[in-house]
Amino acid sequence: MEKIYKPEKFNASEKINLKAFFGFFDKFDFDCTSNSISEEERNNAVFCKLGIDDTLEQHRLVTDCSIDLLDNVEEEETDEARHLDTVRVRETYKESLKEIYIKHRYHKDVCQIDTNKTSISSEADLHPGTDFAVSLRIYHPFRFNYQSSSRRTKANSYMNLKFSHEIIVLGSNTLEQLRDAILCSSDLGLCVEVTEKPTPVVDPKTVYPSGFFFIDNTFYNDFRNPSSIDYSEVIRTWAQDRDIAPLHVATMSIQLKELTPRFGYPYVYLHQGNCEHICVFSDAWVLSPSSNLNSKMYPMCIGIHQAYSKLCHICGTEGARWICLDSDRLPQDRMLFCNTCFKSYNYSDNNKIGDFKAYPYYNTTSII
Ligand SMILES: [Zn+2]
Ligand SMILES: [Zn+2]
Repeated sequence: MEKIYKPEKFNASEKINLKAFFGFFDKFDFDCTSNSISEEERNNAVFCKLGIDDTLEQHRLVTDCSIDLLDNVEEEETDEARHLDTVRVRETYKESLKEIYIKHRYHKDVCQIDTNKTSISSEADLHPGTDFAVSLRIYHPFRFNYQSSSRRTKANSYMNLKFSHEIIVLGSNTLEQLRDAILCSSDLGLCVEVTEKPTPVVDPKTVYPSGFFFIDNTFYNDFRNPSSIDYSEVIRTWAQDRDIAPLHVATMSIQLKELTPRFGYPYVYLHQGNCEHICVFSDAWVLSPSSNLNSKMYPMCIGIHQAYSKLCHICGTEGARWICLDSDRLPQDRMLFCNTCFKSYNYSDNNKIGDFKAYPYYNTTSII
């Protein structure tokens, strides 16, 4: 794989054997008795580093660098600013959207989750200084473009790669546990035509439990469910016929610490037939006393890209739950509906009105 997707291209690290690398820290006896250092100790360390001995100069530095001097970016506009048309329009706009913002989480950016405050000392069973954690960035599934006549889409590109969420796992967590923590709308329900009986088909993870991670030329399959199949078999046969480097196969029951990944390199997670996610090892660190030391909290999602909610095309306020196609009573070929509008417009006494196709619509914003 690395002959085609060269690690240099991704600025990836060397291969790191996690167990050997972090096993190095076992030799040290860390002093973990103090959970934090005082502000004075921290300041003294900075003065020492900067070589500042003069107490007056030290006092001036502390005063000038105080966080109290920072402006509050959330501050409301002053009355003076309200004379400006731009400020008035912005305030009106913000006010009118406030209700929908709250209801549908119309946030474009990543939502960061505070992970440390959930740690309760009685539940702390991890050892700072020796146990370690790894963070993985999971990306939304994307369509790889082989050819395109469009100017905006290059051939053989992955320009549509979008961050989905970031998960912290312990070295002792398994790939199975990591898989269970990955959020994807295709795990929420099957997108099949259900016009005659408009009830979403639930739990596709039970119906189609197969999946694999492809890391360092090895396919790690999930065989927890007896009905799982080996998605990698056809790929390995294809690769063998073309004399492509030996590809190995293993199970997802392996612990993260047994892996030898490159950090920054794109690995693959595949599930639900062809839902393919890039996942990247982005960081690893030894746990400190201020880390969450409750092993039950891991794998832990620490950041989610919150996409725009898709709203019902009829009422414009409720979240979309259905897609209608090819209807003879709608102005567009495809329209989104909320539950209420879908049933009231398309059914009478549970009988279908007119001709149309309906599919359940799943969106990860509904499970965050
Ligand atoms: Zn997926
Ligand atoms: Zn609606």
